Amino acid sequence: MQSRTQYARVEQVDKLLVVGSGKGGVGKSTVSVNLAISLAKHGATVGLLDGDAYGPSIPIMLGIRKRTASSGTEATLPFAERKNIPQAQKIKPLVRYGVKIMSVGFFIGEEQAVAPIPDVLGLLILQLLYSVDWGKLDYLIIDLPPGTSEPQATLCREMQLNGAVLVTTPQDIARIDTAKALAMFQNVHVPVLGVVQNMDGFVCPHCGERAEIFPRSQEARNLLDELPLLGSIPLDPVAVVNSDKGHPIIVSMPESPVAQAFRSMTANVVAALDTRKTAPEREMSDVQEEGKCTMIKEETDLDDRKD
Ligand code: ADP
Repeated sequence: MQSRTQYARVEQVDKLLVVGSGKGGVGKSTVSVNLAISLAKHGATVGLLDGDAYGPSIPIMLGIRKRTASSGTEATLPFAERKNIPQAQKIKPLVRYGVKIMSVGFFIGEEQAVAPIPDVLGLLILQLLYSVDWGKLDYLIIDLPPGTSEPQATLCREMQLNGAVLVTTPQDIARIDTAKALAMFQNVHVPVLGVVQNMDGFVCPHCGERAEIFPRSQEARNLLDELPLLGSIPLDPVAVVNSDKGHPIIVSMPESPVAQAFRSMTANVVAALDTRKTAPEREMSDVQEEGKCTMIKEETDLDDRKD
């Protein structure tokens, strides 16, 4: 068998992006949704894949609700190891606000659970990448579940990812875990475009004064601190109500400070991708070599340890 040296691409997709975080609840899905819509509003063709099989929230945020539980073939997830799926058999994504959407949430009811073992999550996301009729896209964005497990590992191992966007909130407890997600991407040479700091202060709608909601980070996280800041998004209680009812802030309150912050974040993401245009794409051999070095270094560190 010939060994593979190239990462896989999704047919007709120009840029495959992932949005990740160390922790849940920091606003990763909110960032993914507003980034996708904002890109589409600028004339790009965009797809959004909800990569969180345990808690798919993209359908709710886009007002695509499936309240009843699925059963029988309706509850069958597109799970088979097939790459070259005939066009006629591909699953049609739903289109909302000009974005093509796919989520495990389309196959199950809102209160229904899927409990795949973690290894299966990687295969499931690959299958959704290959079996959905995405068509020609400028950007396909994957909203990842929090953490550094699956499907992240499979995507990093298999796919040519053009960029990762990390989302965090300002306090240490979120930033420490985001630094772990950063290390995961950097270990396998996935280009990290930068970090989005969400819920970064609250602008009082009455007096306009800015207040901090979360304690500011006290600890330096060198690698994280060096990343470009793609956006600083304030917390807005109205944004929660709107976006959790299926009206993303970029559409429902386009003039609000939150929507403006999302637009400037989008411009920064596009600029970061542009500056990488001429950079060589990662190759599997780079990662294998680097992996070896990391192992040796870790052993040395252990040997040197003084108790
Ligand atoms: P994650 O994907 O990281 O779990 P979500 O995007 O689902 O996080 O956001 C969690 C909750 O926080 C949601 O109710 C969402 O509407 C709300 N939220 C996210 N960002 C903001 C913000 N900037 N201002 C107010 N609420 C926000």
